[in-house]
Amino acid sequence: MEVEKCQKCNKEFGLTETNCQPGHRESEDITCPYCGYITTRRTNGVFRTFKLEE
Ligand SMILES: [Zn+2]
Repeated sequence: MEVEKCQKCNKEFGLTETNCQPGHRESEDITCPYCGYITTRRTNGVFRTFKLEE
């Protein structure tokens, strides 16, 4: 698990990568679980985010 910081609301959230497939590299959305702000990053899987705080 990684910890990311939202560029919009400045809150920290957890980020995990699932379904990693070698050779598959796409830009996937990383959605802030607090405010919905979306960034994209290239990955060989799919990102899931979750709140670290309420
Ligand atoms: Zn946010």
